[in-house]
Amino acid sequence: MTEQRTQSSHWHAQTTEQVRLTLEVPTKGLNAEQVSLRLKEYGPNVLTGSKPRPIWLRLLAQFNNVLIYVLMVAVLVTAILGHWLDSGVIFAVVLFQGVIGFVQEGRAEQALVAIRHLLAPRAMVLREGERKHIDASELVPGDVLLLEPGDRIAADVRLDQLHGLMVDESMLTGESVPVEKSLDPQAANAALGDRFCLAYSGTLVSAGTGRGVVVATGERSEIGRISGLLETVNVLQTPLTLQMNKFARFLSLIIVLAGALVFLVGWQFGDRPIPELFMAVVALTVSAIPEGLPAILTITLAIGVQRMANRKAVVRRMPVIETLGAVSVICSDKTGTLTRNEMMVAAVVLDAQVYPVSGDGYAAEGRIGDATSGPPPASLLQAVAQAALLCNDARLEHRGEHAKVLGDPMEGALLVLAAKAGLEASSYLAQWARQDEVPFDAALRYMATLNHDHHGHARILVKGAPEQVMALCGSALDHQGAAVPLDLQRWQQNIDQLAAQGLRVLALAGASPADMSGVLNVEQLGDQLQLLGVVGLLDPPRQEAMEAIAECHQAGIQVKMITGDHALTARAIAERLGLRNTGEVATGQDIDALNDEQLLELAQRVDVFARTSPEHKLRLVQALQSAHGVVAMTGDGVNDAPALKRADVGIAMGQKGSAAAREASDIVLLDDNFATLAAAVREGRTVYTNLKKAISFLLPINGGEASSLIVALLLGLALPITALQILWVNLVGSVVLAMGLAFEPAEPDVMHKPPRRSAESLLDAFLVWRIVLVSMLFLGGIFASFQWALQAGLGEAAARTLAVNTLVAMEVFYLFSVRYLDSASLTLRGILGTPAVWIVIALIVLLQWLFTYTSFMQALFMTASLSASVLMIAPLAGVMVLLILELEKRIRRA
Ligand code: ATP
Repeated sequence: MTEQRTQSSHWHAQTTEQVRLTLEVPTKGLNAEQVSLRLKEYGPNVLTGSKPRPIWLRLLAQFNNVLIYVLMVAVLVTAILGHWLDSGVIFAVVLFQGVIGFVQEGRAEQALVAIRHLLAPRAMVLREGERKHIDASELVPGDVLLLEPGDRIAADVRLDQLHGLMVDESMLTGESVPVEKSLDPQAANAALGDRFCLAYSGTLVSAGTGRGVVVATGERSEIGRISGLLETVNVLQTPLTLQMNKFARFLSLIIVLAGALVFLVGWQFGDRPIPELFMAVVALTVSAIPEGLPAILTITLAIGVQRMANRKAVVRRMPVIETLGAVSVICSDKTGTLTRNEMMVAAVVLDAQVYPVSGDGYAAEGRIGDATSGPPPASLLQAVAQAALLCNDARLEHRGEHAKVLGDPMEGALLVLAAKAGLEASSYLAQWARQDEVPFDAALRYMATLNHDHHGHARILVKGAPEQVMALCGSALDHQGAAVPLDLQRWQQNIDQLAAQGLRVLALAGASPADMSGVLNVEQLGDQLQLLGVVGLLDPPRQEAMEAIAECHQAGIQVKMITGDHALTARAIAERLGLRNTGEVATGQDIDALNDEQLLELAQRVDVFARTSPEHKLRLVQALQSAHGVVAMTGDGVNDAPALKRADVGIAMGQKGSAAAREASDIVLLDDNFATLAAAVREGRTVYTNLKKAISFLLPINGGEASSLIVALLLGLALPITALQILWVNLVGSVVLAMGLAFEPAEPDVMHKPPRRSAESLLDAFLVWRIVLVSMLFLGGIFASFQWALQAGLGEAAARTLAVNTLVAMEVFYLFSVRYLDSASLTLRGILGTPAVWIVIALIVLLQWLFTYTSFMQALFMTASLSASVLMIAPLAGVMVLLILELEKRIRRA
């Protein structure tokens, strides 16, 4: 095979046979050796995407910030005044801040890229006669690719089989209506959108199934040619950080105005020389700007994202982290999310009589029928087993003693049932080849196949939701294998009996058509279809889901189950899971009969919804949202995308979910588990409080510094802290300490409080009050220690050194207080702190020691050594701050 051949742009003009010949594709698909050779020749099936921004541009972008501009003006002013040292240090701070931001952003982006790999696209291929689930990057030209609804097609393919295949090609052609595909070759000059026998990489299967030979991968695919379509990496921004950035800009404006005012007042009414006034204004400016805040917020978010990924919840859109903390209703799927999705047929109903089935998981050992029921009628059991085996897309893979299902676990369980009934899968499948099919569709709730043996016999087999299948049947088979009228009532009793036990119920039907056209049309069968039997499948609830539901209830979050399953099955499982209002189950039909207002009432009252389709999910989300709920919704199918997008938090399943659902979601649960979702909510709440803590920690520091300068200026006193010293505190002290907060684990009672109101502003009255209060405490501490030292005759340098140390000590003690915003910090857990907190404190003590006692620092920052007894004032002030805040918390709580 030569390079030129695969670059042919006329695959659509060739027949499938020609394509297979050109690409040397064996009937059973490529073998391992061919794959590895082609992988070497063509490279992996990936798009390299657009070039990242050059490093220097990314670095420069860090300085494009109003706060930095203000600081740069300060650099200029100090330089003009000849204060070279100050000018140099402020400039160094600007550089430092830029570099920190740059490094931090780079690391956060790297973390996101790493997480993204967890969501790498996968593809189902046929290799050496077996279906294989592989990384899409391993696809090579000549591979046989299988397509299902919801798949994002992983390479360009020439189709060679299809069943109602519809593809959404909007991302390639701009055409928003899905295109119906066909197998016929097209004119060589057909436009891209008219090459109906090709399916393109990056487009989305919106309905039907298909199969095709890969003709182009990676950059050679159509999408590769127009490249640059790769999603860009999410930047670490949320509404909250955007709000804070806005706030910071607003703050700079205020600061500049306040600085100008102070200067004017000082100039007109004060007696300070102009250069000194300038320096005071510079000090005021740098004191009031929260230099470290943006970095801390980014770090807190990055840590939250990382923690969620460790818990197997991958965040696709950053803002959702905040929304998660406000979730008040979770709407969850049942199968696989609340249940284990490890299915086993536990009962078979034949001729309206129930036969229990014994066994363990996917092992083929087990008996059908027990002492009470007696053995099942052989011919009927054979007919059911045939339907279970042929009307089935799953395969069992045996590895030693264990069997693994490739495909839907429910279908895997049906294969096991067929084995228990004595059918040997591989030879039977070869004997009865599939000619046509109606793929499973969540709206139809059944699937059908047309099979034929090689002796002129055809068989139509249908399996699906009982009410759906029975509606198609004209008769049933009795225990002797004779056709009898369908006794709906008797069958329904059996079905209800199985469903009430929490079993998932599925009906199987068959017909032997006289017409051998090879095309399957179930609706046109008339009453030829016969009900063969019904099976009850056991799918146990997940233990951890029960605990997670209880935790959600405790956290004031409602949990609703929205499933496609039978109402009675849904209720039985819901009861076992501990859902609340299981007395009433609403079905999709019930929902259809209601207008939006009535639905609003129902959606709030009922917790279990059964036999629903994706449209119902969308209506339910809208109803719950109109009642001011913040709704998290799970989904996996291609049609779930609108509901996932509409929900405040859309959650897709990583294993069961289609690419369409994943792409419409904000979060992907890698393990499909409800408990992971609950953990993500918990993490969301924690991140939000940590952001809140970081803000309430950093802002009062600026408040305290700025107000002490203003007071000093107004009273005409010496400044208690110089501009340089303030920069030291803001950048070195505060940022290091606040870093400890970013790593703060969840407070023990995060899941005991009701969800935060989504409209709640972060800077609420409480936070503003707390910031003002602590600012005042800091002001008092700085001033008192400075004045005391002056009175004691220690001189200005030592007095300032003491003031700085007092401020830092107050910060350290405030750190302990802020770890619990509104509950007591003077508890054993509060005092012991976390390792992160102790590490940053040790670091601060070391830094302050350098600041106070080394001659280099003394020269740079104009500090002076202090005696131990004088230095003791600093921690004492800290203890005072902590005690006063504890008192305040106690009063507030009372
Ligand atoms: P959930 O929405 O909680 O995951 P579900 O898996 O039951 O529940 P659907 O996948 O929409 O929801 O299935 C709805 C119904 O369709 C099932 O209860 C079953 O009766 C039927 N069904 C599901 N899968 C198949 C299949 N592969 N073949 C035939 N019928 C199926």
